[in-house]
Amino acid sequence: MASPHVLVTGGAGFIGSHTCVALAEAGYVPVILDNLCNSDARVRERLQRITGSTPRLIEGDVRDRALLDRVLGSEAFSAVIHFAGVKAVGDSVADPLGYYDNNVHGSLVLASAMRQAGVRTLIFSSSATVYGEPDHSPIPESAPCRPANPYGRSKRMVEEALADLQQSEPGWRIALLRYFNPVGAHESGLIGEHPQGKPNNLMPFVCQVAVGLREKLVIHGDDYPTPDGTGVRDYVHVMDLAEGHVAALRHAERQPGLATLNLGTGRGASVLEVVRAFERACGRPLPCEVGPRRPGDVPAYWGDPSLAQATLGWRARRGLDQMCADSWRWQQGNPNGYAP
Ligand code: NAD
Ligand code: UDP
Repeated sequence: MASPHVLVTGGAGFIGSHTCVALAEAGYVPVILDNLCNSDARVRERLQRITGSTPRLIEGDVRDRALLDRVLGSEAFSAVIHFAGVKAVGDSVADPLGYYDNNVHGSLVLASAMRQAGVRTLIFSSSATVYGEPDHSPIPESAPCRPANPYGRSKRMVEEALADLQQSEPGWRIALLRYFNPVGAHESGLIGEHPQGKPNNLMPFVCQVAVGLREKLVIHGDDYPTPDGTGVRDYVHVMDLAEGHVAALRHAERQPGLATLNLGTGRGASVLEVVRAFERACGRPLPCEVGPRRPGDVPAYWGDPSLAQATLGWRARRGLDQMCADSWRWQQGNPNGYAP
């Protein structure tokens, strides 16, 4: 039987590229659709080195309905994994319309084109951001959704639209995957995360301090009600996340329906724990300074991944030390990302 083809929107990006590896390893043929607004086409050469084959890249935008009709009509895709979107919370506050256009409108165009082409299996990148500030951790999927910014609301709107679609047409097979904090890189060090400009997130910032691109890490507050006073998050290795997508795809293939699942480790780590783990990985102390709290930050949260484990038979297997070691390998070997 021919290998099933899976359309991976945003597949040139951080999580998408790692998922292309997991898909290829699981016997699927990933085809990337990406407008490259936050990624680099040279990732394909790296994917070739890891998996032995170069994924096809269709350069284009998920909001381009004519393109999607052509792509989905031209070959038989068994499923779509939809990563394409924009993800910076601060930018979403500054440009809400741009965020709703890309994340919400883009997802609606994609779902309509899939419907027309008869492709009804969709794995969607949602986020733990949909929960907003939780009442307690670990957060189960049944917790109320109170997203606190346009980015989180854009993800929640798409979740609701896709749930309505699945209700009205029960043949759809949809997974809404709520990621906690994806970090790390493929163990080869060939693919990883390369944010443009100054990183907002902790792990890429720590990487850049370790490699000497930034002078020091500013810890955003050490007076939170957490064991060491710094913020606590559920960091999950991007390859665990990638494997979670394959597990969600296999689940969707088995039965129609809608699954809403947390993908996290179920364990929180503080900023200081991350710094210490990274110091072990890179073998040197990292200059840090405590600064004020970051506006809008939630002190601590982590996910309850037990539903994903029960539903998919998936759980995160890689710990914080491996997340840091793999991030460091990627950062050291590729200080300029995919550029030479
Ligand atoms: P990323 O920016 O590395 O990847 C997104 C990819 O989508 C990029 O390659 C970008 O060029 C592409 N893209 C953006 N808009 C597009 C459009 N309109 N048409 C076609 N391509 C487009 O980000 P990532 O970290 O890999 O995130 C992937 C998805 O996961 C996003 O939807 C994001 O919101 C979600 N997510 C990410 C995190 C995280 O912390 N990284 C957490 C939760 C959810
Ligand atoms: N953080 C920090 N310094 C930085 C970036 C992040 O102390 O330069 C802290 C942040 O306050 C939070 C944690 O690291 O407690 C994770 O932040 P990140 O932005 O990576 O994830 P998010 O807050 O979006 O879950």
